[in-house]
Amino acid sequence: MPNDNTPMPSRRAFAGLLTASAGLAALTACTPKDGVPSPAAASMPAQGDVTSAAPASSSPAATATPSATTEPTIAATPAPAPSSTIKPQHSLTDPTSPWVIVNKHRPLNPQDFVPADLVQPAIRLAVSGEAALLNSTTAAAAEKMFGAAASEGVIMTLASGYRSYTTQVSTYNGYVASTGQAAADRASARPGHSEHQTGWSFDIGDGGGACSFQPCFAEQPAAIWAKANAHKFGFVVRYPWMFHDTTGYFYESWHLRYIGVDAAVDMATRGITTLEEYFGLEAAPDYL
Ligand SMILES: [Zn+2]
Repeated sequence: MPNDNTPMPSRRAFAGLLTASAGLAALTACTPKDGVPSPAAASMPAQGDVTSAAPASSSPAATATPSATTEPTIAATPAPAPSSTIKPQHSLTDPTSPWVIVNKHRPLNPQDFVPADLVQPAIRLAVSGEAALLNSTTAAAAEKMFGAAASEGVIMTLASGYRSYTTQVSTYNGYVASTGQAAADRASARPGHSEHQTGWSFDIGDGGGACSFQPCFAEQPAAIWAKANAHKFGFVVRYPWMFHDTTGYFYESWHLRYIGVDAAVDMATRGITTLEEYFGLEAAPDYL
């Protein structure tokens, strides 16, 4: 999500697209930071995730998890938990932990957490300011992943990284004032509930610039490559296709989250697609 001070050029166009798709109760973890929501944006989810309304057959990239060997069956498989061979095991609550889980049931603690090691990664940036920052571990992993993708001819950009609590407050409050809380909750994560605040997650764009934060991003080279390869670098597609009842957000093919190579590969190998399931946590479709 564009959350820096530079509005994404595609925002208005995307708002129009969303208008055309109104009626889709999409949620998004990636909040636009245009400051003042436009009426169009207010009438619908501000971005992304609308993919969930598209027929599965329309997007090969959106139909299955990468290297999944079985169909994800959340209900049938109680609390898988990370393989015990993964050492060390990390905290699920400490925001400095690569396994911290932030969702609509699990706010950051403290809510105004700021990573102590924010850095600007040496990768292609589509943003500036705080949104160009990641925590140092995530930045290093992103540099490796972007480099590997480039070596295969796929150019990724950093479309949005860190977002401060202060930024989230102003963004969310802008939506509430403009559209009311219910609509705001569809358009923006509440302050203290955005994974972007941890420094462990970011949104990618495609070097070609197409479809940023839009459903069609799933079919861009960067998204296809990330879906197939991100786990090798410690990342998961945090809000996978058809798991909004678990994660609280519809499909975001652009939103990646670092959890470490061992855990990400473990998830991919076992065909587990959400962090909630992997860590044995309750589904978080809505705020409590
Ligand atoms: Zn995001």
